[in-house]
Amino acid sequence: MRTCLGCKKAKSKDKLLRLILNTKGELEPDFKLNKGGRGAYVCKDNPECMKLALEKKVFTHVYKRENIKIIEFFQNSGSSGSRSC
Ligand SMILES: [Zn+2]
Repeated sequence: MRTCLGCKKAKSKDKLLRLILNTKGELEPDFKLNKGGRGAYVCKDNPECMKLALEKKVFTHVYKRENIKIIEFFQNSGSSGSRSC
């Protein structure tokens, strides 16, 4: 069991999305669970958890690092500034 950083509920791994901090300092989804490094987990099916985790800056605490960039992967979260490539 892992804990979602958004809603703080413990769930099995397959219900959670694993995120890792890549070498560029960007938070990146690890869909295949084959990337190294420290994993952070949020609910796969709930973009709100990701948002909540960002608002609370939990990733800053987890990785002890400021200015973590997020690779946009919850594209359906309704922001107008969607860009492609
Ligand atoms: Zn959650």
